Amino acid sequence: MATKNSIVFLGTGGARYVIARQMRATGGILFRINGKDILVDPGPESLLRLLNYVPKFSPEKLDAIVLSHKHIDHSADINVYLDILTRGGFKHGGHLIAPADAFGEDGVIFKYLTQYLEKTQTIKPELELNIGDVTFEFPLRHIHPVETYGLKIKGDDYSISYISDTKFFPELIHAYMADIVILNLLCLEPSDIDHLSVPDCARIISGIKPKVAIITHFGMTMLRAGPWNIARRLKQETGVTVLAAEDGKHYAIDKLLSYK
Ligand SMILES: [Zn+2]
Repeated sequence: MATKNSIVFLGTGGARYVIARQMRATGGILFRINGKDILVDPGPESLLRLLNYVPKFSPEKLDAIVLSHKHIDHSADINVYLDILTRGGFKHGGHLIAPADAFGEDGVIFKYLTQYLEKTQTIKPELELNIGDVTFEFPLRHIHPVETYGLKIKGDDYSISYISDTKFFPELIHAYMADIVILNLLCLEPSDIDHLSVPDCARIISGIKPKVAIITHFGMTMLRAGPWNIARRLKQETGVTVLAAEDGKHYAIDKLLSYK
């Protein structure tokens, strides 16, 4: 039986201290759409989280893996998965989508594994590709120390945006217009670390006016403040339902679309 379309958070933590203590998991996000399973940003412990949070899931069957960028909290388990997808190099398989700087000498992807992959795609601004009947779009490059992109997923009659790590800039709003918007909200206050803060997210959510926004990728200042408190505050400020993602939680897409 086909799985219901859903978004599964294999982790909601970000930044060094949260990762080091695994105060929140850091396994990325699994999108299960129209029978396809797409894993985005497999950070530290991703495989373990996937096996725990999605019982009976066979990681060999992942249809694609996307890296938004090569930072370790988004990519630590990538080679583990590539080894699984290629059966340790005995079988061609797997579809990997990542920015150019994730490959090569300074990259994070083992070169010997890429030769066994069935398909490798390098993200460039405005790249559009299909996985099954689902369209993925990478609208623009983010402002972050390494090459970084978010993504937009076009389902049957809805859209989902994932705004990965970035400093705020106004073009994000137009680029990520969607019904469901996922934001990597690392820090409470604005700072110069090229990550979104609470006021940045308020601007983006007010600008996009999605049916629902989901905040994730929390650093220490967010965990101390309580992500649910912040979600409530953002809802009051923007008038949009804002959820604070929880580790291991499966969000049914039709349920998310019913918010307004
Ligand atoms: Zn980053």
